[in-house]
Amino acid sequence: MHQQIERQSASFIDEAAIFTALEEGKRRASRAEAEAIIKKAVLADGLTLEEVAVLLNVADPELVEQIYKAAKQIKLSIYGNRLVLFAPLYVSDYCINSCVYCGYGAGHKFKRRRLTMEEIRKETTAILDMGHKRIAMEAGEDPENCPIDYILDAIQAVYSVDIKNANIRRINVNIAATTVENYKKLKDAEIGTYILFQETFHRDTYARMHPRGPKHDYDYHTTSFDRAMAAGIDDVGAGVLFGLYDHKFEVLGLLQQALHLEAEFGCGPHTISVPRIRPAGGINLASFPHLVSDDEFKKLVAIIRMAVPYTGMIITTREEAGFRNQCLELGISQLSGGSCTGVGGYCEENEAGVKQPTQFVVNDERPLDQVMFDIAEAGHLPSFCTACYRNGRTGDRFMAMAKIGEIQNLCQPNAILTFKEYLVDFASPETKALGEKIIREHLKQIPNPKLRRKTQERLAQIEAGKRDLYY
Ligand code: SF4
Ligand code: SF4
Repeated sequence: MHQQIERQSASFIDEAAIFTALEEGKRRASRAEAEAIIKKAVLADGLTLEEVAVLLNVADPELVEQIYKAAKQIKLSIYGNRLVLFAPLYVSDYCINSCVYCGYGAGHKFKRRRLTMEEIRKETTAILDMGHKRIAMEAGEDPENCPIDYILDAIQAVYSVDIKNANIRRINVNIAATTVENYKKLKDAEIGTYILFQETFHRDTYARMHPRGPKHDYDYHTTSFDRAMAAGIDDVGAGVLFGLYDHKFEVLGLLQQALHLEAEFGCGPHTISVPRIRPAGGINLASFPHLVSDDEFKKLVAIIRMAVPYTGMIITTREEAGFRNQCLELGISQLSGGSCTGVGGYCEENEAGVKQPTQFVVNDERPLDQVMFDIAEAGHLPSFCTACYRNGRTGDRFMAMAKIGEIQNLCQPNAILTFKEYLVDFASPETKALGEKIIREHLKQIPNPKLRRKTQERLAQIEAGKRDLYY
């Protein structure tokens, strides 16, 4: 049994079915059909491959507007107004793979580095100093220079840092596909979500993009979540690197993966990330014929939200600030802020030292405080909440609450409390003034009077110095 899990085939990605659905989608892409699907999507019960294919073929600007509106409405009906923030923490840029699109590929010559535990504590301190409470730990694949034991020590080092009453409360981990045994170790180390991007679901493209190294094995990579879930990790984070192959195919691939996890484990991916390929050291974008335009990208973000309504959707600093803000209106529920995408980047930036090469170019360089101000000004409620994971609301327990629209009743007060902590401890005077106003407004909107009163009391406790209050 164990061996079976270790060597599964990714037959749940059925390319023929995807191509058939895409053809069918083209054929059925009438206005009436699209409007009926949009209407169905708003009920937040998900969509079939064929329905998604129809929406992907919609070109009429009026219908595209309807898709945008529906995506926003679905996000609001499940998660409410909150947007959760996190920071990536790159701990090692050693890598034995040769992903064609990545600045860390084995063929790129630069002095590689992994952080010492002391450096990890310093980076964590710099991230906490901005106001973050949640990180995504990132590392390339290199069993010799970055073994699982190093990652486990790094996780412990991050959790051990405590400054100004603040600590990292949730570590999501993005490391290479690995064994059930190693996933069990990550679970025991109390990670939040295990993140692994598929990059591309298209087998031939996958083989070309990953010519060497363990990542070349499509089946092993694509079945990583099966092993992670078999090892007891409840929350997995999926994603595609848009621009490697036809984005319509990739969206249907994501949906097949989500349906497979739901069927096998009763719970689809906890999050889906939507990175687009970016320039990086030695990478020439002209050699990628499937780059995704801004309009195509916005549409696919909205359609993913409609297809898998309960899944968190993440946008990173690969996108520039103004464009990111537009995407926040299309169903995105999490974003990174104030990010550095190089090993040791937070401290080097602070001390103006020599910078390590980054995995990709960051396009949104706003400091976290500016991101907080901008999203609050746009009417969102910024959040540093990590409550579900800490209250055991993971996997199907989380999904059960999300599916009946209940989770937002917790997201909202938790966002208010964590935003308040940020305002008291880290915010600039401008963000503080705006944030206090936003909190007053959102407090009034808490529907349950008992919960509203309790949240008000907790806000007073935070003013008085108490921290880490959550539901
Ligand atoms: Fe290594 Fe990941 Fe970059 Fe591939 S994408 S070269 S596995 S760091
Ligand atoms: Fe996320 Fe749960 Fe917090 Fe909502 S209550 S923001 S779903 S951790």
